[in-house]
Amino acid sequence: MAINIYSWGAAEEVTGSKHFLETPRALVQVDCGMFQGRRQETYEKNRKLPFDPRNVNAVVLTHGHFDHCGNLPSLYKGGYDGAVYATPATRDISQLVLADSAHIQASDAAWAERRNARKGRRGFVPKPLYDHEDTERTMARFENLKYRERKEVAPGVFLTFFDAGHILGSAMAFLEVEEGGTTRKILFGGDLGRNGLPILRDPQHPPQPEVYISESTYGNRLHDEVSEVDDQMAEVVNWTIKKGGKVIIPAFAIGRTQEIVYCLHLLQRERRIPKIPIFIDSPMAIKATSIFSRHPDCYDQATRDTFGKDANPFGFENLRVTRSVEESKMINELDKPAIIISASGMAEAGRILHHLRNNIEDPKNTVLVVGFMAEHTLGRRIVERREKVRIFGEEFSLRARVKVLNAFSAHADYNELLGYLDHYSKKELRKILLVHGEKDAQASLLKKMTESGYRDVKAIKYGKKYRV
Ligand SMILES: [Zn+2]
Repeated sequence: MAINIYSWGAAEEVTGSKHFLETPRALVQVDCGMFQGRRQETYEKNRKLPFDPRNVNAVVLTHGHFDHCGNLPSLYKGGYDGAVYATPATRDISQLVLADSAHIQASDAAWAERRNARKGRRGFVPKPLYDHEDTERTMARFENLKYRERKEVAPGVFLTFFDAGHILGSAMAFLEVEEGGTTRKILFGGDLGRNGLPILRDPQHPPQPEVYISESTYGNRLHDEVSEVDDQMAEVVNWTIKKGGKVIIPAFAIGRTQEIVYCLHLLQRERRIPKIPIFIDSPMAIKATSIFSRHPDCYDQATRDTFGKDANPFGFENLRVTRSVEESKMINELDKPAIIISASGMAEAGRILHHLRNNIEDPKNTVLVVGFMAEHTLGRRIVERREKVRIFGEEFSLRARVKVLNAFSAHADYNELLGYLDHYSKKELRKILLVHGEKDAQASLLKKMTESGYRDVKAIKYGKKYRV
């Protein structure tokens, strides 16, 4: 039976995930993410899909991160007429992410038009790829599929989701292709999480696959142990309280914010940190937190044991959410220790900028970095502890303490990627195809996998077909 696998995104890079399974009778797409970056070239890559969505029979969505779900509306605009299969939590997160993206695209385009008008230029205007109506139309085509439920999603192709332990609702897509009396088993791993992450279950193992499409984001990196997070967090909070300062945490609205809140809640229950005000100051993070509260079925056993069946790990008296800009501004007037969690995660935009501006020059405060900071972002300059940083066009001296916690990563490192595979027979796993990683990371992982005895490991190239 001829089966082909190919990718029109997240091939030798980390964003824009779009993978395909082609069987004699069906074409199934796994994820339809957005390429990320501000360049015109990236915009064009998102605008022009290099395949005809009308030929796709079914779309499988592994999780709600923007680089996996962000370009779904373009499929429907391009004539796709089928369903998007996702877990219920992924559905909710995708709705939030797509609505936010439609909003950002509209305001980016409006900003560029105003700039052109002001300067009398004809500069590049990134016209929105989709609007609010398009996202609504897309969401109406979602079909819930719970973990471990098997469903025929296209002729002869059966899908079962298993928890990937990466973000709430994240799944590995186990696909069985039945054709002419034989069954082929192919595992699209999506993004692979880690054992021991707060709230989430550890990554689960579907039945033995013949072919595994694996992410490789950290194919050349090792993270700190997840178990060290609590101690590090307690140290930072207590140090800052002693000084009478504030802890400022730039954090992604979905996932990271909730993990931090959970961690702080636990420390507080165990009396390892005092009860001081904790603010979630990001409208998107507040919405995301309520999605977490609605899906306790996705929590791991430790979370259920700690908080009981009905208790909410995200609801406690000193946790404050600030929806309005006025409430957000009032935090600045607070003259006692507090913890402020705000977006954006790399401190490029959003309310976090105000908090950094107001607190970064005071050595009694701490800026706590809990996520990856890309080059050329304010977050990165803070990690590098530059003496001066620019915020809203003004220069500020960085005198606050800067602490970096590496243990929060939601992606497996190379030991964890390899460890995940130990569960399976090397002989029966005939082929591993790497996606979702930069070239260096992939080369390093490919070498390690080959040395560990996996026979056929390749990094997928953009648009190239792999017969499996
Ligand atoms: Zn992800």
